[in-house]
Amino acid sequence: MNGRRALMAGLVALALCVGMVAGCGQDGRSSGAEKAPPLYLRAADIKDGAPKYFPEQGQCPVCPTSELREKIYVDVDGKRIYFDSEECRKKFKQNRSKYLQKLDKRKKEASGGEK
Ligand SMILES: [Zn+2]
Repeated sequence: MNGRRALMAGLVALALCVGMVAGCGQDGRSSGAEKAPPLYLRAADIKDGAPKYFPEQGQCPVCPTSELREKIYVDVDGKRIYFDSEECRKKFKQNRSKYLQKLDKRKKEASGGEK
C-alpha cells in the first residue's frame, strides 16, 4: 500500500518536473535565438540570395571588425557589400571610392592574385 502510494507520488512529481523543464527549455531557446542580431564572419555565409560584391569579404570595409550583418549593406553595381554597423555604412557612402579601393585590394589578395 505504502509502496504504491510512493510510486504514484513519484510519477506525478516526475511528470511535473519534465513538463516544467520542457516548457522552460523551449521558451528560453526560441526567444533567445530570434532576438540575437545575426552576425556573419563572411559575406558568402549570408544566404539572402543577393549577389556578393566580394564573397570572401570577412571584414567590414570601413573598420577592422570581422563581423558582418545581413541587414546592413550597400549595393554597388548590383552587388552587395556588408557592414557591421550603420555608422560604417554611412562612412562608406560618404567616401565610396576610397573604401571600394580598399575592398578591391583585399579582394585581389584573397584570390591569391598578388602579382
Ligand atoms: Zn565597420
